[in-house]
Amino acid sequence: SRGFGGAAGMTRNLNRDTVIISSNENPLGPAQSALSAIGETAPLGGRYHQEETMKTVAVFNDLFGLKPGYVALTPGSGGPLDLALMSNIGPDKPLVYGDPSYEQGFRAAETMKAPKVPVPLNAAFAHDVKAMVKAHPSPGAYYIVNPNNPTGTITPREDILWLLANKPAGSVVIVDEAYHHFSEQDSVIDQVAADKDIIVLRTFSKIYGMAGLRAGVAVARPDLLAKFTTVAAPARSLASISITSSAAARASLQDKELVPLRRKINADVRAETLEFLEKHNYKVLPGSQANFFMIDVKRPGRDFQAAMIKENIAIGRSWPAMPNYVRVTVGTKQEMAKFQTAFVKCMDTAPG
Ligand code: PLP
Repeated sequence: SRGFGGAAGMTRNLNRDTVIISSNENPLGPAQSALSAIGETAPLGGRYHQEETMKTVAVFNDLFGLKPGYVALTPGSGGPLDLALMSNIGPDKPLVYGDPSYEQGFRAAETMKAPKVPVPLNAAFAHDVKAMVKAHPSPGAYYIVNPNNPTGTITPREDILWLLANKPAGSVVIVDEAYHHFSEQDSVIDQVAADKDIIVLRTFSKIYGMAGLRAGVAVARPDLLAKFTTVAAPARSLASISITSSAAARASLQDKELVPLRRKINADVRAETLEFLEKHNYKVLPGSQANFFMIDVKRPGRDFQAAMIKENIAIGRSWPAMPNYVRVTVGTKQEMAKFQTAFVKCMDTAPG
């Protein structure tokens, strides 16, 4: 059995043939440019080489027109996401977030004993920014995942700009762009460059295929990044990326073909899979612009997930707000063919 995480509670059931479409990873893995960079950098690994990570930050700054001091390069984006959330919320500073959305938001609120203010997504499964502003007079932070996890849907950039303009002074907007590159949406990193009350998280785990290599970025005004240190020691949390991961991240940023190519591959396989499901009258949640989507399996998602693992297909979980929907990651064309066969079989045979 393989030691894969992510598919909650199912790690031990995976074997070598299991199709893993549970954790929104990229089946293509790191790009060749990233692998070459790792090969060249690994022999230098006997030294700390802080200049290696500084080079990657400089490339990121150039791409987004950011001044020095606005970027923290981190091992994945989950760590800095926690710091972004935790340094802005607390018992008197609630967290306002979409429902359903990525659970790390409300878990950070629980850790900090901050009141949780979930706000249902709107009819288009976008974050309902107007309802979010109405939901509480003085939250510590608003958490927006764009595209959203688990729905894959987009919150229009104009809505995030509206939120920034209409939120109470003193609260920050945290925008999680983990799946940004799969979508056609414009980023809001320019709002960081414009010194707004916003923190944007990016990761190399998704389109760049580096989930296990661990690289991510927190982008915010220096004073907001400095606040991270109120909840974690800076050396431990912000400066601990390996030189190989830094070099791989930089090579990925500089590889101009990578994002458009992988965006298209993902969109094509996703469209093909959705077409199959719709042709067979299965109900898919519309509007995903990410590398995953949700399907109504008309029974508790957890039971369906268990039936699929018996067919050697590890699919994603369901969310309390949508208990009969499961989240499925877009794998390769071949993996999705296996998924389709197993899906039809389980819909036909599993109780429901
Ligand atoms: N944010 C979202 C919305 C995610 O779905 C994930 C992982 O699945 C993360 C953040 C954290 O990922 P990582 O720490 O690998 O960057």
